[in-house]
Amino acid sequence: YDDRDGKIWLDGKLVEWREANVHILTHALHYASSVFEGERAYNGKIFKSVEHSERLLKSGELLDMPIPYTVEEIEKAKYDALAANGFTDAYVRVVAWRGAGADMGVASSKNPVRMAVACWEWGAYYGDAKMKGAKLDIAKWKRPSPETIPTAAKAAGLYMICTMSKHAAEAKGCSDALFFDYRGYVAEATGANVFFVKDGEVHTPIPDAILNGITRQTVIQMLKDKGITVHERHIMPEELAGFEQCWLTGTAAEITPVGQIGDYTFEVGDITRDVAESYEAMVRA
Ligand code: PMP
Repeated sequence: YDDRDGKIWLDGKLVEWREANVHILTHALHYASSVFEGERAYNGKIFKSVEHSERLLKSGELLDMPIPYTVEEIEKAKYDALAANGFTDAYVRVVAWRGAGADMGVASSKNPVRMAVACWEWGAYYGDAKMKGAKLDIAKWKRPSPETIPTAAKAAGLYMICTMSKHAAEAKGCSDALFFDYRGYVAEATGANVFFVKDGEVHTPIPDAILNGITRQTVIQMLKDKGITVHERHIMPEELAGFEQCWLTGTAAEITPVGQIGDYTFEVGDITRDVAESYEAMVRA
């Protein structure tokens, strides 16, 4: 991803893609003082753009790392980055981090908080699995307690066990891994939320130890508007055996049907297809 043509927005300026570099003593590289957003532009418009910018600022506050830009400035940065690369349909990655500076210990309040926006064309996150139903491994790691780490932040540090779990899943021929949380409840995938269907009703975990995804919130409202009952509740792993359909939601994942989790199988059924089609129509509306 580093050696290509294009422009990246970095600390207020559009710079050449290859020159968008940071120093090796960047605080974030050593201590995970970094928060980010993943967004998608469709037909020139970033879906739920303001919600993403607001979540970025909130993530920064949760990490005691105030980001020195307003929502309006972040909005402009994203659209400037898209325009500079000539994209109408692209994935947009906004990242903010503690840079190199006066501190090289754990404390970093004297180091500047920096921000960058990169965008690139990124198709279906799960490739073919997107239509056939993805196969998921069950992660050996657990999503941590909100008393251990600020789980509501989209923070780099929360992704270390995601990368490890996704590597383990791919080694077994799976597309992704499903986490349980520190209490043992079904939680989320490494970069997406999870939904289940049973007897025509939808069940999804409460976001009390997971990211309350913007796509998750969009889909819950969409289901309610369709008159489908949604239960946001704690889900036990034993219940996986009784669910008929399953899908993942996320900005990158969009709506991805799940065909298998561990030994449990699911059909790509009516509600899954309906939600996937409605989401596709909504993001392009
Ligand atoms: N959970 C995790 C761990 C994620 O990384 C993501 C992707 N941001 C999601 C859920 C889904 O969030 P969203 O719908 O806001 O993209």
